[in-house]
Amino acid sequence: MNALILKPGREKSLKRRHPWVFSGAVAKVQGNPDAGDTVEIRSATGERLAIAAYSPKSQIVARVWDWQEVPIDQDFFYKRIVQAVAQRQALLDQPDTVAMRLVHGESDGLPGVVADRYGDTLVLQLTSAGAERWREVIADKLLEVSGASRIWERSDAEVRVLEGLAPVIAALRGAREPTRIAISEHGLQFEIDLERGHKTGFYLDQRDNRRRVRALARGRDVLDGFCYSGGFALNACAGDAKSVTAVDSSAEALALARSNAERNKLAQAEWLEGDVFQLLRRFRDQGRNFDLVVLDPPKFAPTAAHAAKAARAYKDINLLAFKLLRPGGLLVTFSCSGGVSADLFQKIIAGAALDAGVDAQIVERLGPGADHPVALNFPEGDYLKGLICRVAG
Ligand code: SAH
Repeated sequence: MNALILKPGREKSLKRRHPWVFSGAVAKVQGNPDAGDTVEIRSATGERLAIAAYSPKSQIVARVWDWQEVPIDQDFFYKRIVQAVAQRQALLDQPDTVAMRLVHGESDGLPGVVADRYGDTLVLQLTSAGAERWREVIADKLLEVSGASRIWERSDAEVRVLEGLAPVIAALRGAREPTRIAISEHGLQFEIDLERGHKTGFYLDQRDNRRRVRALARGRDVLDGFCYSGGFALNACAGDAKSVTAVDSSAEALALARSNAERNKLAQAEWLEGDVFQLLRRFRDQGRNFDLVVLDPPKFAPTAAHAAKAARAYKDINLLAFKLLRPGGLLVTFSCSGGVSADLFQKIIAGAALDAGVDAQIVERLGPGADHPVALNFPEGDYLKGLICRVAG
C-alpha cells in the first residue's frame, strides 16, 4: 500500500489519536498516491500508525480514516454513517426535531464530511480530498441509512481551496426541486435556501441556544446582531419580547428573515440591514438601550493564526453591547472561531466588560447541541462557545 513515512518523533500526535498529519511531519511518500487515495501512515521506525486519506495540496497532508488496518471501502462508510445516525437518535430527546446534523466530520470519524438533515432532504458538504474521492459512496450510504429521498451538495466552503478542490453546488441525488424548503425547529418554521443559504442552509448548531433565548426574552427589548434568517430574533418574538431589533449585513439573509417572520405570524421585529460594528456605535450615540443583546457573528478566526485580529473584533462588539444594556440586562454572546478557545473568549468578554465600565457575571455557558459532538482527540472541533452574562442591576 502507498504510505507516508514520518520524520523521527513526529508520530506523537497520531499516538494521541489526533486525526491530522501535517506536511512538515512527513519524511517520505512511498508509492505514487493520488489526491484522496488511501495511504498508510508509518513512523520513522516503520511502526504502523493509521490508515488515512492523502491530500498532497494541503498542509494537512493526510486525514485519518482509522487507527486499525481496515479496508477503506463501501462497508467502511456504511458502518461509520450507521454509527453517526444512531448516535443522533439516542442523544436527541426531541422526536419533533426534523433538522439536525447527521455527520460532523472528524468528530464522527469521517474527516471532511458534513451531512445535515432537513426533513426529507440531506445537504452534504465535502471539504477534504479524501471525502471528495468517496463522494458517490458517501451519498449512497447516507440515503440508505437515513431514509431521506434526496441530497443537495453544498461543497462551497472556502477551506476546499486549501485542498485544491473547486466549489460544487449541485443536486447530488433525487429531485433538484424544490430548492427552498421549510423546516420546523421547536415549533417555529424556518425556510432553508438549499442553493444559496449560508453553510448548508441553516445554523443548526445554535438550535438549543435559540430556544434558550426564547425563554429569556419575555418583556425585554431585544437586539439580535448578525441575525441571518431570523433564528434568535424570531425566538425572542415567540418568547414575548417587548421589542425585537434584528441586524444583518446581507439583504438576502434579511429577506429570508422577513419571510420567516411572516410564515410564523410574528410581526413585532424590526429588521435592519447594516454593519453591526457601525450600528452598535450609532445606537450608543443615540442613547438607545436594550435588555437582551445576542451577538452571533461569523467566524472571525478560522485558525489560531487569526486569533489576535479576531480578539479585537470580538472585544469591540461586546464592549459596545455591554454599554447598550440596561442594569440587569443580558448579553448572549458567541464565538464560532476554531482559532479562539473558550478560555480566550472568556478573557475577551471580561476585557470588554471592564472597558465598558460594567460589572457583569457569567450566568450560563453555551455550546452546540448533541448533534455536533466534539471528539476528545480533536479539540479543533470545539469551535462554538457562548456565554450568557448579566450586567449588575
Ligand atoms: N444567529 C444566526 C446565525 C448568524 S451567522 C442564526 O441563528 O441563524 C452570521 C451572520 O452575520 C450572517 O448572516 C452574515 O450575513 C452576518 N454578518 C457578517 N458580518 C456582518 C456585519 N459586519 N454586520 C452585520 N451582519 C454581518
